[in-house]
Amino acid sequence: MSTKRLYIKTFGCQMNVHDSERIGGLLRDEGYRLTEKPDEADMIIVNTCNIREKSEQKAYSDLGRFAMLKRDKPDLILGMAGCVAQKDGEKVLKRYKGLDLVFGSSNIENVPQMLQTITLNAQPVVMVLEPPGPPKTTPADRKDRVRAWVSIMEGCDRHCAFCVVPMTRGRERSRLSAEIVQEVSHLAEAGYKEITLLGQTVNSYGKSLEEGVDFADLLRMLNAVDGIERIRFMSPHPSDMNPKLIETMAELPKICEFLHLPLQSGSDAVLKRMGRGYTLNEYRPIVERLRRLVPDMAFSTDIIIGFPGETEDDFKKTLDAVAEFEYDNVYYFHYSQRPNTPAAQWEDQIPDEVKDARFARLSALEKALAREKNRRLIDTVQEVLVEGRSKRDRAKLTGRTRSNKLVHFEGDDREIGCLINVRITFASSTYLEGMRIEG
Ligand code: SF4
Repeated sequence: MSTKRLYIKTFGCQMNVHDSERIGGLLRDEGYRLTEKPDEADMIIVNTCNIREKSEQKAYSDLGRFAMLKRDKPDLILGMAGCVAQKDGEKVLKRYKGLDLVFGSSNIENVPQMLQTITLNAQPVVMVLEPPGPPKTTPADRKDRVRAWVSIMEGCDRHCAFCVVPMTRGRERSRLSAEIVQEVSHLAEAGYKEITLLGQTVNSYGKSLEEGVDFADLLRMLNAVDGIERIRFMSPHPSDMNPKLIETMAELPKICEFLHLPLQSGSDAVLKRMGRGYTLNEYRPIVERLRRLVPDMAFSTDIIIGFPGETEDDFKKTLDAVAEFEYDNVYYFHYSQRPNTPAAQWEDQIPDEVKDARFARLSALEKALAREKNRRLIDTVQEVLVEGRSKRDRAKLTGRTRSNKLVHFEGDDREIGCLINVRITFASSTYLEGMRIEG
């Protein structure tokens, strides 16, 4: 089989990054190898995200740019994947005449068949239907050799008023536990030390299956895989952080002391309008209980700024909650009106200048908290999984602690992929520096 070149442009979250790895893995079996250069590619896939308007616009503009390459290279196969493809389906073909392939994230497993259809019929293919049953296991072309992302479920059965995911990724569908364990065992054999389990509401894993395995059970199965040293997951939904899961996290040694637990707002009134399904008083005990059982537990969260109707008082409650929970990291975003979501139709939209001012206040608080949390680690010894050379300073290695903090320190290339003890000597709000402990 002759080698052809594949270029994938990925927008959006880690789920999309891993979806691109899966597209790459399936097409590798069809003779394609990844390239960083679109103009030397035989096939280009734009893997899209429509969580925010800007990202969707950028994806369409890139697609237009890549469509021009077909003028000089008529055999180039051009495709759009992901959430925008799922949402717009056939409409994308009308907009870009030279497009060959449009498919949603639920249809990634069908990529080889779609490719065959294009080759045989010289007709474009659109596939945006949700297939029945659990998602199939697909190969993945992973760049990272130390840490691996593993998708354990697709879709979401919740309906937050701001979110497009239920429309673009469909209903919740969990993979069979035996297939996940098998994939992770293969990753361990290939030398991977850390896995991150992915799902839109990762801790509701298993609800769509008949096998009676829930997320805590799955963690226990994966904890038993030899060679895997660290297990992370994202993103859990607070409503599915049940006592069994919290105790399992505290008990299993490979589960990292880190939890990304989206809060979205510190105001119960806003949470209710968002349709999040929890109040602050229901969220608080999750953090408290985990901190009691796992004192070193680090937390990060997502906050939406300027959700329709958010008052100054609502926003102050968010600032209070962020300060109370002492997050190690906060990912905060302006609310973005997304088509066909309930909140996009509401009249009490917040002006951009108000969102900007609130953004600046949250940013200042977040940085101060992160700096203080990191500063407390000075003089402690942290186990670091070494990922590679630091991008800031090539003389240094870089890796993460179990609590997901980035650490730079001097070391040898032979230590890449190893767990190294590092004494922390410096802390900023975004990274730590340290010295390797000998022995
Ligand atoms: S739980 Fe997450 S993925 Fe599901 S609708 Fe809400 S924000 Fe979207």
